[in-house]
Formats: sequence, C-alpha cells, structure tokens
Amino acid sequence: MTASHRLELLAPLSGLLVPIEQVPDPVFAQKMVGDGVSIDPTSNVLLSPVAGKITQLHSARHAVTITTVEGIEVLIHIGLDTVMLKGDGFSAKVKEGDTVAAGQPLIEFDGDAVSRKARSLLTQMVITNSDRVARFVVGNGFVRAGQTVALTLELASAQSAATAAASTEGDVQSEPVRVPNPTGLHARPAAVVANLAKTFTSTVKLVRGDENANAKSVVAIMGLEVQYGDEIRVKAAGPDAAAAAKAVAEMIAQGSGEEVGGVISPAAQKHLAKTKRAVPAAKPKSGDPNVLLGVSASPGLAVGQIFQVRQEAIEVAEQGRDAQFERAKLDAALKDAGHQLEVLKSEITDASKAEIFAAHQELLEDPDLLDIAINGISSGKSAGFAWKTAFSTYADKLAALKNEVLAGRANDIRDVGRRVLRIIAGVKEAELAVPDNAILIAEDLTPSDTASLDREKVLGFATVGGGATSHVAILARSLNIPAICGIDEDALQLANGTAVILDGSKGSLRKNPSDAEVAQIREAQVKQAKLRAEELAAAHQAPVTTDGHHIEVVANIGGLDEAKQGVELGGEGVGLLRSEFLYLDRADAPTEEEQTQIYTDIAKALGTERTFVVRTLDVGGDKPLPYLPQPAEENPFLGVRGVRLCLAEPEMFRVQIRSVLRAAPFSKLHIMFPMIATLDELRAAKAIVAEEKAALNISADVKVGIMVEVPSTAVMSELFAKEADFFSIGTNDLTQYTLAMDRGHPKLAKQADALNPGVLRLIAMTVKGAHAQGKWVGVCGGIASDPQAVPLLIGIGVDELSVSVPAIPSIKAMVRRLSKADCQKLAAEVLQLGTAAEVRERLGKAAG
Ligand code: PEP
Ligand code: MG
Repeated sequence: MTASHRLELLAPLSGLLVPIEQVPDPVFAQKMVGDGVSIDPTSNVLLSPVAGKITQLHSARHAVTITTVEGIEVLIHIGLDTVMLKGDGFSAKVKEGDTVAAGQPLIEFDGDAVSRKARSLLTQMVITNSDRVARFVVGNGFVRAGQTVALTLELASAQSAATAAASTEGDVQSEPVRVPNPTGLHARPAAVVANLAKTFTSTVKLVRGDENANAKSVVAIMGLEVQYGDEIRVKAAGPDAAAAAKAVAEMIAQGSGEEVGGVISPAAQKHLAKTKRAVPAAKPKSGDPNVLLGVSASPGLAVGQIFQVRQEAIEVAEQGRDAQFERAKLDAALKDAGHQLEVLKSEITDASKAEIFAAHQELLEDPDLLDIAINGISSGKSAGFAWKTAFSTYADKLAALKNEVLAGRANDIRDVGRRVLRIIAGVKEAELAVPDNAILIAEDLTPSDTASLDREKVLGFATVGGGATSHVAILARSLNIPAICGIDEDALQLANGTAVILDGSKGSLRKNPSDAEVAQIREAQVKQAKLRAEELAAAHQAPVTTDGHHIEVVANIGGLDEAKQGVELGGEGVGLLRSEFLYLDRADAPTEEEQTQIYTDIAKALGTERTFVVRTLDVGGDKPLPYLPQPAEENPFLGVRGVRLCLAEPEMFRVQIRSVLRAAPFSKLHIMFPMIATLDELRAAKAIVAEEKAALNISADVKVGIMVEVPSTAVMSELFAKEADFFSIGTNDLTQYTLAMDRGHPKLAKQADALNPGVLRLIAMTVKGAHAQGKWVGVCGGIASDPQAVPLLIGIGVDELSVSVPAIPSIKAMVRRLSKADCQKLAAEVLQLGTAAEVRERLGKAAG
C-alpha cells in the first residue's frame, strides 16, 4: 500500500498526549474502536481537529464523529464510561449534519463535574475506519487545543482507500460464529455481550437466520434464545460498525465471559439435552397421595404448616395525560426502583447473590424494554400501562422459550417490572401476615420476595414455577431455607394450616405426617442444632489436639465478606484467598488501585495477628479472562494457566504483586503461587516479588510460598522447600494431575478421590520434604474440610488446614477431640492401603 497524502489532526483539547495503548479501557487500548491517541485534558472545550462534517453526535453528548472530505472518520470520545452520565455536564455546540472547520468548538463540558462522576477524563481521538490509513504518526508531550498537531495520518492510496471504503460503508456483518456456551446465551453471557455492544456508537444486532435481536439489550438477546452451537452473525451499522461487529463476534466466539471448552463435556451435553427439550418434562407425580413432588431447590428439612401466598394485582389506567408527564413519571419510578435494588443488594452478604439484583438494575436500563414503554407513552398510554405492556411482553416471550434457564429469567423480569409498576401506581408491597412455622406455597416467588422472607417465621417454601437454576433457588440456598421448585400444582389447593414436612433435598412435600415421623425429624434437627451450637460456642477456642499439638485452622475465601465471616467463626486467618474472584466476570482488568483496596481491606479485617495467604491469579486454560484473549488450547488443564499465565503476562502479574504487597503492614502477609511445576517457575515468580518489594520499599517480612498441586513438585518437595517459605497442598488439582482424571468429569467424580493412596503418598512426601527444611505445610484442597480426612492429614503431619468458612467451627472442634499420636498410627496404617475405598473404610471405622 503506498501513501498518497497526509492528513494532520489538531489536538481537540489542550493537555498531555497519552499513547492509546495505555488507556485503562481495553476497548480503546486494544484498538477495538480504532487507532489514534488519547489526551489527558487541561481544557474543557472540545475543538474539531479537522474540517469535515458531523456524522454522529452521541445522545449523551460525550462522543462525536467528524468525517473529512477524504472519508476519514474521526471519533472523539470524552472521558471513560462517560456515557453513563447521560449528557450531564456536556453541552453540544454543533448538531449532526453540520459542516465544521478545524478548531471550531464542538462540545463544552464541565471538567470538574465530569471528572468527579466518571472513571477518567482521558479523551480518545481515534480513526474508526483505520484501514483507510497507511500510517499513524502520533505526537507526544503537551499539546494546545486547535494549535498543535496531535496525530498525522498517512492515507492509503486512492485505490486501496476506495476498496476499503466500499467494504466499510453501510452495514458491516461479521463472519458466522458458533456459540460455544453449553447453555447458550443466557442472562449472564447476554449481559456481557450487551455491555460490550453498548460501548459502541453503532447499532449492533445479533442475527440468526432471518431473526435478529438488539445486541445492546439483555432481554432481546435472551429472547432470541441462542443455543449452544447456533450460528450467529453480528451486524453493525454506524461510525464504528467494523470494530463493533468484530469485537462482539470475538466475544461470542470466546464464550461471552463464560468458561467454555473446545469440546463440550458430557456433563454439559446432558445439561444441554435438558435445556433443549422441546416440551417441558411432565412434573413428577408420586404414587403416594400424601406426597407431592417437585425438584430440589435448596436442601434441608422443615416441619411446619402450609401458608398460601397469592400475588396481588396492580391496576393501572390505560390512557395517560400528556407524554411528557407520563415519561417523567416512568423515569422517576425507574430511578426509585434502582435505589430500592441498591438497598436490597447491600442487605445480602453474599456478593454473588447480590449480583442477581445488580442484574435487575441492568434491566431498568434495558434499551428494548424502555423502547416499548416509551413508544406506548408516545401513543397516549399511561406510564404504568406502557411499562406493564413492555415487561409483560418480554416476560411472556421468555417464559415461552424452550430453554429452561432462559424461561426462568421471565420471573426476574416480572419481579423488576412489578417493582417499577408498584411505584408508578403508588401501591405498597402488601405485608404478608405469615404465621409461625410457615411453609409457603406459591405459584411463583420472585427473587425480591425470597430475599425479604422473614426467617423467624418461614421455615421453607415450595413454588409451582421455577427450577433448580432459578434465581429464587439460588437465593434460597444462600439464605439456607429448604425449598422446592416445580412442585405438583395440587400443592396450591392445600388449606392454610395443613401440617407438612418439606424435604428440600429430595424435592418432596409430605402432608399429614404421622406424629412419630414429625418427632423423629424434630429430634434429628434438635441434635444437629445442639452440636452446631456447641461448636459455634467453642469456635474461638484454639484447635489444639489432646496431646498438645496446635493445628492451625484457617479459611478458604473468595473475598472480603468471607474474610469477615471466617474471623467471626473462629478462623485463625486465611489459608487461601482465591484472588481470581477479582479478575473474573468483568470486561476489563481490575486496576492497581482497586486491587490494593481489596487486599488491604481483607488484611485489615484479619489484623496483624492472623495469617493472610494470598494466592496469586490462578486463571487461564479452563478459566479464560475475557480481556486477555488466549489462543484456544486442546488441553486447557495442561496449558497456560496459573503461574504460567502470570509469568507470560508479567505486567499484569506485577500489578497484582504490588497491590498485594501494600497489604503487608495490616496482617501476616503470605504470597503463594499456584500450579508451580518447576523450580524455574518458582525462581522467576520470586524474583518479581523481590523486585517489586524493593521498589515499593517494603521492609515487612512477607513469606513467599507455593501451592503443591503438580506431582513433580510433591516429588521434589525437599528441593522446593529450600526456596519456598511454606507449602499449601491443593488436593483438588493434585488429585486430577496424579490420577490423570479431570476434576470436573461427571463419570470420574467417584474415582478422582483425594483419598486415593497415590495422592496420600504424595502428600506425605511433601510434608517430609518441607519438615526436613523446617517449613510448614497446609492443605487447602477440599479434603481439608472433610471430617473423615482430618485425622489422617494430622497423622501425616500437616500443620495447617484451610477449610471452607462454614466448616471452621466443626473442624476446630474435631481437632480438639483428636490425639496426634493416634492420628500418626492411623496414618501409618492407611498409607499402606491399596485403594481409596479401603482408605475410606478404614477412616470410617476410626470415626466409629
Ligand atoms: C486445589 O487445587 O486444591 C485448590 C485449592 O485450588 P483450586 O481449587 O482453586 O484450583
Ligand atoms: Mg488448584
């Protein structure tokens, strides 16, 4: 391609030029929108960098495109995430179609107000049809608005430009991509796709055959019912159409933020077969007239009396006043509903469950839902009527889908829809006069109903609608309420006050139980509750064996909430922070500030007397990061994952290490590398920690250790122990790598047992090697929380057990009942056994 002529673009703002690659937003940094430059501005009137025509002015007035006579499209985007400000603080000086001269004011903005509300004021100037440019010459240093040249473009030759123009004009359609998600584009991947699509100014659609859906709308995507293996094209029209189609198609091909393997696993296939079912399976019927069946939604037993819950109808007038009045009413109700959801979210301690309500908040901004409502208002309907039509239309559409997971989301749309409708109609949510010991029966409960159940009175519930994957079921599990979904409709006919036993684990509701049955269940519950109460009361006593050995009992956590819960339940610290929670389920990498904040918060919650083991990022392979595209691997579990990925991405790794190190003054900080297989990896990772520690001038004694998850490391433990301060055995991975059995394989689940003698011998080797060098060894894999395995691990010589948070009191109580000498005898015997079954049998006997 030969350059035919140059085009100089003036700085649109005064300020410091920043390379586009350094913009902390992958959409710009990875040039998904186009190539160009960014400016850290000191002025607040955006000037046109070039003469041309305004071909696009975003309705939020934070972005504008000028097309030059040569056909070059210059997009200027003020700030990051400024679209959220919806125009607040921006005032446009031009309109679409205007012809402008270089240096002419385009948009004025309130720099102070915008920088307070937005993520950054960095302003990007990029060429959305970059294929028209042969070479970009980017300026540097401080530039003056309308005076200094910030970017020089060497344009491609006329002929190639013409070809390029022809290919980018009008609609752009991607190559077909196959959807790799086992359950298709359900709510979460749909949200990831919509969020990415929303970063583009072009319209973006997903097209399957002759159907299509607005890619910026979660409900529209879900309504398309995209299944595993479906062929989708991404169609975009607008100034950044090519980049939009490319980015969205790539995101879909990579799984839209979900873990997807190249080959669909048998478990997923089974699930798929279930979700693809054309007709819902007939509800299970029991042969016993006293038993009604459904599916298990949340385990546990509850004995109580029936209380029927019926949803109240919310009446609204069809005709509205004037459109402006009704629109304002709708906007105000949407805003109020957003606040209510914010409060509800803050009341749920489990962050992943709070996300259900975060998704509801997103529905309040869904463009397709709003479009239907606003159209209704424009045609003379009231805000309430128009909104009800909008959400009911979508909820009914989803409910009719074949895919159970998507159909289940209809309930979420109705929930959030009714929340807004109640505000518009001015009706309060009816208070339920729930009696004591109530078992609720309902056609359906919404996630909001479930989250606000009175746990003092409600012992369990059963709904005719929903399934195990519904949000109601997820909430019930997190609230620890036994529950059944999809119960036989006859349950709706049971009279209030009928005595029942609800078995959430089996999914059965037994009416008229005999007194003996009730008494037996009550007795078991009382026993269980008494034991739990005793363990809780003693939760803060030290876990010291009867012969005086302290076995440290610490927590496996995923974030701050669990750190706090762990301390409350007597945890002596944290033995494993799975730091990947910070990185997954988001469109861009967490910033250094965000990371520093979270590690420091957790360290402070633990305090200087407690151990805090941070495992560095353990992703890659089977857990891809959407913003760190990796080539597909045939064997992801044997690929670039764990520390291998961090060493391949040293910048990302260093950001994490620096953030973790800053938490050193607030707790006994330990840094731990996952998936270490060779001494070289340990040395390289340690060198990075040492360099960053020196650069930050941190003098605290930060211990640096490794996870033992790969057989080579267990076998070589004595050599590793010379260079690592501690070990923590990840038995989940150690088992899969020792036995060559995928840890998630449904058919191998029973055989992939961490109590296999092969694995146990490797644990023993690890302990021996570590102790020979005076280093401690913990176990943070699942068997540390398994009461059967605990005596054996203590007998083998493990110094620390890192367990799931709820298990802390019972494992501590168990340690206090054991003698290490007895455990050692048991271990010596068990290590001579040949099979996992023999080991389990022997341990069962030991437990009596
Ligand atoms: C393990 O492999 O045992 C472990 C604790 O790590 P994860 O389960 O996070 O892979
Ligand atoms: Mg692991």
